[in-house]
Amino acid sequence: MTVGRFAPSPSGRIHLGNLLCCLLAWLSARQKGGKVVLRIEDLDTARCKRPYAEQMIEDLCWLGLTWDEGPGVGGPDGPYYQSERTALYEQALEKLERMGLVYPCYCTRAELHAASAPHRSDGQAVYPGTCRHLTAAEREKKTRAPATRLMVPDETWSFTDGHMGHYGENLLHECGDFLLRRSDGMFAYQLAVVVDDAAMGVTEVVRGSDLLSSTPRQLYLYDLLGLKAPEFIHFPLLLAPDGRRLSKRDADAGLDDLRFKLTAEEILGRLAYLGGFNPTAQPKTAEELLKDFHWEKVPKEDIRIPEGFFER
Ligand code: GLU
Repeated sequence: MTVGRFAPSPSGRIHLGNLLCCLLAWLSARQKGGKVVLRIEDLDTARCKRPYAEQMIEDLCWLGLTWDEGPGVGGPDGPYYQSERTALYEQALEKLERMGLVYPCYCTRAELHAASAPHRSDGQAVYPGTCRHLTAAEREKKTRAPATRLMVPDETWSFTDGHMGHYGENLLHECGDFLLRRSDGMFAYQLAVVVDDAAMGVTEVVRGSDLLSSTPRQLYLYDLLGLKAPEFIHFPLLLAPDGRRLSKRDADAGLDDLRFKLTAEEILGRLAYLGGFNPTAQPKTAEELLKDFHWEKVPKEDIRIPEGFFER
């Protein structure tokens, strides 16, 4: 059976970009008769707050995007808040440690982002392996708390995305040894998402194309941990009318503003029109959108929201 999921981070009110993600994940799984899991990705406790998560849950209910397992519903693979699942991440990290693939990294933020360091297309620095070969004596001398990195091989990991086609990356040269745990003890997204999607039996991951470049790293982790990887389907990003990436700061794209102006069906119908799977911008329920939904209709290029498109 297909198991899809929504995995929002509750760092603010849900916006149209998160909503498109939830809608596509919901439609893609439901259309195959599958189920949907809701997992709250609140690892970053400084940014993610419980009231935001509760508001997000209420917004999804208002929109009619239902889930079969998750907060409020329960299920066999809970808890469904990442902040309550650290024991699982701990176990996975220990397994990688036993394999001898993990090392402490003492680099400061400034060292990591030095202008001279090669950068990935998404702006992140490629980790040059500075701390990989420190001797025990050199580690002894360090005074700051270390982060934990995974050693990656000089190998290209690729896959066929369900929407975007072939994508691959050389882990060593295009990414570098990546973080599993920050120096403050917070587990990294890459580790948590793999552990959780596998533990929750997710077979289909639908998410924005900004995470396409994370997928080779995640596939490598699935392999090391002996877990079965899901199918990945990435979709284009929704952009503000001026072409910028939408963020939680775009108040008019946030559900707080939109819920005052429009009904749930009006929001979904317009969003689906922009996504190519509603022939007009007519209001529709999520159920009604199932009929016309097909991944082939969804564009591959980023989608710019026309000015005033979500006004009354
Ligand atoms: N929590 C992530 C976000 O809200 C999504 C991660 C994922 O879908 O893998 O951007």
